Amino acid sequence: MSKIRVYELAKLLSKTNKELMEILKSLDVDVKTHMSSIDTDVAQLVEDALRNDAGASVGIKEEKISTSEERVIVAYESTVAETASLLGVSPADAVKALVTAGLMLPANAKVDDKALGVLASAFGKKLSRPVSGGEFEKTVESAPRPTGKSAPKGAHLVPRPPIVTVMGHVDHGKTTLLDYIRKTNVTESEAGGITQHIGASTVIHQNERIVFLDTPGHEAFTAMRARGAQVTDIAVLVVAADDGLMPQTIEAINHAKAAGVPIIVAINKIDKPDARPDRVRQQLSDQGLVPEEWGGDTIMVDVSAKKGLGVEQLLEMITLVAELGELRADPTVDPEGIVVEAKLDKGKGPVATVIVQEGTLMRGDIVLAETTWGRVRAMLDDRGNFVDTAGPSTPVEILGLDGVPQPGERFRKVAHEREARDTISLQAQIRREEDATRTKRLTLEEVYQQMQQGETPQLNLLLKCDVQGSLEALRNSLMKLATNEVGTFIVHEGVGRISESDVMLAAASNAIVIGFNVRPDSNASRIAEREGVQIRLYRVIYDVIDDVKAALEGMLAPKLREHILGQAEIRAVFKVPKSGKVAGCYVTEGQMKRNAKVRLIREGVVFWEGTLSVLKRFKDDVREVAAGYECGMSFNNFQDFREQDVVEAYEIIEEKRNLE
Ligand code: GDP
Repeated sequence: MSKIRVYELAKLLSKTNKELMEILKSLDVDVKTHMSSIDTDVAQLVEDALRNDAGASVGIKEEKISTSEERVIVAYESTVAETASLLGVSPADAVKALVTAGLMLPANAKVDDKALGVLASAFGKKLSRPVSGGEFEKTVESAPRPTGKSAPKGAHLVPRPPIVTVMGHVDHGKTTLLDYIRKTNVTESEAGGITQHIGASTVIHQNERIVFLDTPGHEAFTAMRARGAQVTDIAVLVVAADDGLMPQTIEAINHAKAAGVPIIVAINKIDKPDARPDRVRQQLSDQGLVPEEWGGDTIMVDVSAKKGLGVEQLLEMITLVAELGELRADPTVDPEGIVVEAKLDKGKGPVATVIVQEGTLMRGDIVLAETTWGRVRAMLDDRGNFVDTAGPSTPVEILGLDGVPQPGERFRKVAHEREARDTISLQAQIRREEDATRTKRLTLEEVYQQMQQGETPQLNLLLKCDVQGSLEALRNSLMKLATNEVGTFIVHEGVGRISESDVMLAAASNAIVIGFNVRPDSNASRIAEREGVQIRLYRVIYDVIDDVKAALEGMLAPKLREHILGQAEIRAVFKVPKSGKVAGCYVTEGQMKRNAKVRLIREGVVFWEGTLSVLKRFKDDVREVAAGYECGMSFNNFQDFREQDVVEAYEIIEEKRNLE
């Protein structure tokens, strides 16, 4: 049986989605949203109910044509040409109308419901499908009138445009897609206008505004979320059809899921001969994103960002998903919003792009962000025009701030400069105190404590491993550990080094990072420290399991813990006659000690462990070498090192359990 989406039917019947949803409800048709599909005979039922409602006699059948309008019945199997002849137009005209509407259907193709809608509006006729069987007539007779009742309204709540972030693996076409959308969907009056880069841009699709955040990728998204700010309403996940799912694709999915943001998938590069969109669908299904056409509820659109194929449809889907979210804001209250980008401009001083979330920001307003404040001296929109006001979901660049705020900082309007000043100095003081006695995020040691306090901790873990095999083994064993008191949830998993983005995700979702035979890069370590994220590094799977289990049982035993002494980078490899190879190193952090335990790390993955046997400064053997100095090293029974490998020196110390 063929199907039609509720919103498509709404269009066909010139109803709003909401009206149609009400009608369906009154007919006891169970649909979740206007994105849901219904059988075409149910659609027919609706249509008939509407016709009855419009005053026609009850039980009317299709052959009784209503007096005011000419209704043409089109069989399900009809072709475009047949439909054209029913309409009294030439097949060529029908095809032309379809092509104009973006439907590439030849004259001998079957008309689907969408095409039917296009033809109906192109030729000003009402087209409908035949009723199948007599079964529905009864229902029609007894169908109650659509109620038309409307939802209670907030004070001054009005719909606001959605704010969309484009995410996905590098080179899958995020930038190309954003560029194409911006180029082709400029504001009405400014066709060909050039978008300024201010960090976010507004495009217009069928008179609906959509705001895109310019920074593709999930770093910015997660950085904001780690600060507790969320601007994104919808995530568009770009996956190249020739490349399939890649690590960053999966990361992006997890970031969006963790934030509870709906995902629309754009399967890109379908113009390429080796594009395999169905393989992408399969891979996404494996990640829990099942395409609608396969019975799931993830919207997936095939696109070519380069050629512009499918982009219109993608924008339409964004608009529809936004409509589902019932995004509302009150333009009349005091303005508040979020900083998306900020920089210090030589001429203009601090410049920040903000998105207004509530209220209307006006030139001259005094705004207070988290680390700075200022009077809005000027505002520019994404076309570089000076504007005086900015309502909800409007990105604007503002000038006049006292300092450069961080992306993700919230701002609001305050009444007096004085209030802004006082708050800033108070906040600075609070921050200083907080830094001193920082409340850390959850550590493994605290899990049991929480349980004791009667809380049910959700142990969120982020797993990074050297190879896929160990990842799977680890995941499976950890999932088995969940008990009644504690849920274990893996917010993200992946192969390779622990990156900044991993730590940000862990921070945003209060997760502990478990690294198995991998290391954090230095940025990641720095951020983990700043954000209070615990990173635990392991070399044996059983140790991970033991620790997690022990934490769950409150038995985290004294543990032999390693203490990292320092890191060095291999900058040159020398062959020394007789004694083999020597690594010429530069100590980047901490110190190197002779006889220390070391591990060699290549691209974030541990590939050898052993002992540092020889440590030299120039020709001399030395006991230790500190950061900032060069040295020569060789290792016990190991010579397979290369330039750019990292040497990490550590010692084992006994650490007390810190539960008490
Ligand atoms: P990003 O890293 O995700 O922002 O990817 P880019 O937008 O920079 O695109 C990476 C490469 O893929 C560029 O060379 C683009 O020209 C190319 N590309 C992007 N979209 C398409 C597409 O739809 N079809 C084809 N054939 N190439 C594309």
